[in-house]
Amino acid sequence: MRALSATELLGVWERAFSQSSIQRALALLAAACPESPPDALAGLSIGQRDARLLALREATFGAEFIALARCPACGGSMELIFHAEDLRISPEAEPPPELALQIEGRDLRVRLPTSADLLAITRPDDLAAARDQLLARCLLSGRDQVPEPVLDAVVEQMALADPLGDIQLALRCAGCGHAWQAVFDIVSFFWREIHAWARGLLREVHTLASAYNWREADILALSPARRRLYLEMVGG
Ligand SMILES: [Zn+2]
Repeated sequence: MRALSATELLGVWERAFSQSSIQRALALLAAACPESPPDALAGLSIGQRDARLLALREATFGAEFIALARCPACGGSMELIFHAEDLRISPEAEPPPELALQIEGRDLRVRLPTSADLLAITRPDDLAAARDQLLARCLLSGRDQVPEPVLDAVVEQMALADPLGDIQLALRCAGCGHAWQAVFDIVSFFWREIHAWARGLLREVHTLASAYNWREADILALSPARRRLYLEMVGG
């Protein structure tokens, strides 16, 4: 996965600014993989999609991740530093397109949820309804007469088959010793970074354009090192 250029990343930020998290993820991948048709990207399982986003983040901003977490027991905040490889369970393992499950004597066929499936959910805030809609799309052998506990087990098996779709960090508070699991969502993490980066970059463009009368495109085409040097010269 190659890094996105400043112009490309700024373009994605602008296009996906007012979109949902799922659409932002797809916009980033579309910019990074122009050779892949949009349908193919939307058809990746969530774990496959997030593995690609991890690689894109690593190529663009580096392999080190710094995040803040708040202890649910004492409220203390802690800084987490980890690396892309800590999050990758097995980068080579692509999940199978279809799973054949045997649960409580039933043979069930499912496929893993994709971004297209998540986009099709009409009420994402209603978790029970969202789960039903997802199962209706992903359960290939039909869900008539399938009891609820079996459906719960199906959802569990889908998550196990696509582990990068649900990255959990094992955290322990240095202050009170409380241990807990926190979900790491690469899409929102990466997007927050892109947002902060875009604001900083546009500030730099403003400073250099004001000082030198250069066009935005020319300033964006400068390497970060050259941009920094010019900023130092104008005291920005
Ligand atoms: Zn604590």
